[in-house]
Amino acid sequence: MESFTVSTRERTEMIEITGRVQAAVGKSGVREGLVVVYVPHTTAAVTINENADPDVQRDILKELNKIVPFEDDYSHQEGNSAAHVKAVLIGSSVTVPVSEDSLVLGTWQAVYFCEFDGPRTRCVIVSVR
Ligand code: ZN
Repeated sequence: MESFTVSTRERTEMIEITGRVQAAVGKSGVREGLVVVYVPHTTAAVTINENADPDVQRDILKELNKIVPFEDDYSHQEGNSAAHVKAVLIGSSVTVPVSEDSLVLGTWQAVYFCEFDGPRTRCVIVSVR
């Protein structure tokens, strides 16, 4: 199992981590299999989406912020309920096939760490089998 840290700068932010996941796959020595990318956090998530146009990430965050407003008379006293709800919607892991030492991703796909309660230093766990 490999892990790395991600330092986020914004309250909500998507950070591409494809290269770091690929590096962990390379280090593992697994040529054919699966990689699970997992975040051990309750206010962050991981997803796969387009890496060509950064406006796509902007739009995803904009719409998530609309669907789940920062303030909405939440009960949770820590004040970050919106981040918890967004983390549930996006999910804490993705699984990607590995073939010939490489992540099998579509042309426009990339792996993104999703910060919903930043800025913070976060952990990403990569398990290759
Ligand atoms: Zn909380």
